[in-house]
Amino acid sequence: MGGTTGHRVYPGTEYRPGLLSPEVTRVERRWCRGFPFEAGFHYVQLAEGVNRPDPRSREGLRSLLGAHDTRAIRRLGQHFLVDRAILDNIADLVAAAAGKPVLEIGAGPGALTYTLADRGIQVVALEIDARLTRILEEGARASYPGLITVLQQDALRISWAEVARQAGWLEPITVVGNLPYYITGPLLAKLWQDPLGWTRAVLMVQQEVAVRVAAEPGTRASGAVSVLMRWIGHPRLADTVSREHFYPVPAVDSALLVIDRRPAPPAVPFEVLAWWVEAGFRHRRKMLRQALALASGPRWAKAQWDLHLRRCGIDGSRRAESLTMEEWLGLAASLPESAILGKLEYNKAKSREPEP
Ligand code: SAM
Repeated sequence: MGGTTGHRVYPGTEYRPGLLSPEVTRVERRWCRGFPFEAGFHYVQLAEGVNRPDPRSREGLRSLLGAHDTRAIRRLGQHFLVDRAILDNIADLVAAAAGKPVLEIGAGPGALTYTLADRGIQVVALEIDARLTRILEEGARASYPGLITVLQQDALRISWAEVARQAGWLEPITVVGNLPYYITGPLLAKLWQDPLGWTRAVLMVQQEVAVRVAAEPGTRASGAVSVLMRWIGHPRLADTVSREHFYPVPAVDSALLVIDRRPAPPAVPFEVLAWWVEAGFRHRRKMLRQALALASGPRWAKAQWDLHLRRCGIDGSRRAESLTMEEWLGLAASLPESAILGKLEYNKAKSREPEP
């Protein structure tokens, strides 16, 4: 990669833009820890046209961050991917949704962004950390002019539809991201709540979460999120990724999840399905008739639920994890909304973001 890089120049020497070489565009004076007070400043030069460290390897990432006096912040889930083969695998999965522009969540210093741009894919990159957006912007401007748009934004707060509108995207898009673990739940919920017309999502998430999302309803590994995600699309586990491929190394392994959107969602409204599924899984060790009775409160007792479940062809002693997608959809369509939810509860359910 060509572009901009930082150099440290130690005390006692004076440098100005243009003095050292015409490529030097900016000189900053910074406090440097470890020097005696009177000599405790050094200069950082940012020069155009010299080789810029590439964040797609451990060494490259380290020197890129070092050149900008930046460190990973664990609180923001900053565990960067430093393996070319895995980055290529993600880009292949994205490129398979041919020709679509890409919205990247949590772009960091740009390992994945550049891998996508190398294939001519147009990327809008969201990144919350201003230090990293600066690094990414410099690299994007120098090496991928016109292909990458960097926005310093909280991916959970910003309207993705608005981003697409501003980018002038009319076609459906692909969402991709090596997600910070702490936003995985709300981010998955945003996938089914945001009106943006995405057709494929390729997401690196904690392995445990990926296994849960991809689990077929009706199997022991399934949970509320396995069912709810199938309302919007078809999730599958594309790859498992050991923690060693990230820098700094996180405490858990990851996995790559691919979700292909259904051409049209099922007839049952999402909020109604969510009520049933959350009620069933909130007490996943209990029998379904009891879990539903706990969720509905005094409105319907266990015996009434038992009768209703039997009418739907489901034994009330079964547990939530044993129900297939078709059975969940059948249940959700089996009663008018008012029978399961008072108006207040219904509004509450509508505004709730289900957790994986
Ligand atoms: N894509 C890069 C890579 O693969 O190396 C970075 C991935 S790192 C796991 C997650 C990135 O998401 C970090 O750079 C972090 O600062 C950013 N991030 C954290 N919370 C975010 C949020 N709410 N919105 C946007 N970006 C966020």
